[in-house]
This record gives sequence, structure tokens and C-alpha cells, in this order.
Amino acid sequence: MTIMASKLIKRFGEKSAVAGVDITVGEGEFFVLVGPSGCGKTTTLRMIAGLESIDEGRLEINSRPVNDVRPRDRDIAMVFQDYAIFPHLGVYDNIAYGLRSRRTPGAEIRRRVGEAAATFRIEHLLRRKPRQLSGGERQRVALARALVRDAQAYLYDEPLSNLDAQLRHQAREDILQLHRRQRKPTVYVTHDQSEALSMGDRMAVMRAGRIEQVGTPRELYEAPASRFVAFFIGTPSINLIEAELSRDDEGIVITAPAFTFRLPERLTARLTGPVEGPVTVGLRPEDLHTPRQAKFAVGEHNTLQAAVELIEPTTAGSTVYATVAGPDGRLDLTASFAGRLPDRYVGQEVPLAADLDRLHLFDPVSETSLLRRDPS
Ligand code: ATP
Repeated sequence: MTIMASKLIKRFGEKSAVAGVDITVGEGEFFVLVGPSGCGKTTTLRMIAGLESIDEGRLEINSRPVNDVRPRDRDIAMVFQDYAIFPHLGVYDNIAYGLRSRRTPGAEIRRRVGEAAATFRIEHLLRRKPRQLSGGERQRVALARALVRDAQAYLYDEPLSNLDAQLRHQAREDILQLHRRQRKPTVYVTHDQSEALSMGDRMAVMRAGRIEQVGTPRELYEAPASRFVAFFIGTPSINLIEAELSRDDEGIVITAPAFTFRLPERLTARLTGPVEGPVTVGLRPEDLHTPRQAKFAVGEHNTLQAAVELIEPTTAGSTVYATVAGPDGRLDLTASFAGRLPDRYVGQEVPLAADLDRLHLFDPVSETSLLRRDPS
């Protein structure tokens, strides 16, 4: 069972909300579509569901063209952001609704509603009306309602965005657990990159109606194809620094307002573009370390003296906002440290060791990566 979308286009008036999207979701794959508000995620999902007509392109489910197949005949289950549960029906009847409309035998309905209620831990709520439920409970009813029957494919449109952080975490687990049991192709839409990174087998980053990059969460994090993807993926966001590449006798040098580093051999070998001229350097906050914590050789060649402006404690350690002053200007940098940095460091200078092997380089005009994928 697979979903295959090829060159999907959807126009609203003059504007293309979706401007040629290709997506293949394999057997049992959990595929996440992520991107900023208005980039066309929901419209893409609604075209797959059949709730929005397709202007151009081809959509196949299990190798069968379905462009003109009615939504209910596509055999897809969809969970919406706004829950879409019937306020006048009780929880049991809400969950049973889809099965009844498909003339499922009574005993089968009771069994399946019981199973779905158990999966989402709402057995004790089956007699209530939606207005007697909390937001989190209502959302679990919506999930149970959409997922009670065996569909060929599952689609989710930001189903967790109305939940608080803790409930969201639990609901992610519920959805993934159900997916592991059913192993049906799934497309999950979210604007939350951390949700995409933690849930997706593969993910696609959308921007202005197009897909910017597709890959595993790790591929998108480690080898972003563009400045946009690099900035969208990862928290805190990657540091982007306008710099200059030049060549000397020993290799390639990066000169930025507040530092000059030599490009490591490993990256030089992967460079695809011109080795001289302007460049945007990407340096992830988690690739800046205190010299003691660095797992690579630290020296003048990769260390910056940074003045700490603000320290934010995080679950994993600290986020440090700092500035580096150099002869040609000032640079604001964000660093994520594994350990706690005490507040007394605010206003002090600390050394920051940059893991230069993990730098990203982008063309400042086209914004695409200048590095070939690392074969290792
Ligand atoms: P969000 O995360 O905010 O829901 P999205 O990525 O899901 O955003 P879409 O809802 O797919 O984005 O919308 C893509 C673009 O198409 C937006 O510019 C939106 O305003 C426009 N659009 C969506 N539906 C319609 C419609 N029915 N009529 C006109 N324009 C629409």
C-alpha cells in the first residue's frame, strides 16, 4: 500500500497554493509534511483525501489513479485540527459513526469502539457528550473516531496543535503506537519541526507551495539542502553568518566579521561551488562547545572569545546568547551547552569551540547548499 503524488498543482484564483508537489509514501511509512503557515501543507493533504480537487498532476493510492475518485471511495481516514466531532452525539456514537455509515455489523462495532477507546484511554468517557470533555479528551475522541476502522491510508492535519505540551507528547506516542500496529501509509501535517523530527520516518519541508527538501529527519538536520531548511529545522535555530571564502597556499579560508577559520579538509572535499567569494556560513548552536566539553581538538584555529549576554536553562543544559567582537564587526551567536552554565557568566567572556567539520555553507544568492552530501 502506497501513496504517490506527482506534480500536484492547486490554484486559488491567480495564486498557486500548491505549485508542483511530488510525494511518495511507502508501505507502512510515517511521512511528515512540515513548513511555515500558508506554505500549502493542508491543501496538499486535502487533495490526497479528495476534499480538494486536483488542478494538475496525478495521485495514486496503491498504484490506482484516484484523481477523480470520491473521498469516501478512497478509503482514507483523516484526523482534523479542529477535531470535527459531532456535538449532539455521545462519545460512543461519535466513534461508532463511520462504522455505522458503512453498515458494519453491531457486534463488530462494539468490539472496534472498545478497542479504539482502549487505545486512546477514553473507555470511561463513552457515555459523555463532547461538551462534558476537556480539550485533550475531545482530541482523543477525534483520534478514536477517525482511526476506529481499518483504512488504507491515514492523514493527519495538525491534530495536536490545540493541546498543551504534556498532552501533545502523550498523543504523539498514541498515534505512533497505532501506526506501528497498523503499518499503513500515513501523511502527517504539522508546522512544528520538532514534531516532524521526532515522528517522521521521512519528512518534507514545504515552502511557498513547493517541496524544498525530502529525507529522513537526520538527513534534513545534518545535510540541509538550503539555508531555508537549515534555519527551519533545529531549536534553537542555526546561526547564519555572512562571510567570504578565499584561497591561500594551504587551502580555503572563511573570513567573517568576527573570525577567520580555515575550512577543514573534509568540507573542502565536499565543496561544489566556487571557492572564492561571498558565502553564508551555518553553525548550529549545538556545534559550539565549551573547550572542556568539546570532543575534538580545540585551539586557536577553532575558538572564539564570546561575551555572554543571556543564559537560558533548558532540559538538556543551557542556551547561551553571546556576542563576538572582531576587528571588522560584531557577531551574535547562540550556543547550546550540554551542561548548566551558571548565571555569574553573564557579562563575562567565555571561549566557544566550533566543530568546524559540522559547518554548513550556502550560496548567498540561490540559498542552496555548497556542500555535497557527506558519503560517511
Ligand atoms: P497553515 O499551517 O497556516 O494551516 P498551510 O501550510 O496548511 O498553512 P494551506 O492551508 O494549504 O497552508 O494554504 C496555502 C495557501 O492557499 C495560503 O496562502 C492560503 O491562504 C491559500 N488558500 C487555502 N485554501 C484556500 C481557499 N479555499 N481559497 C483561497 N485560498 C486558499
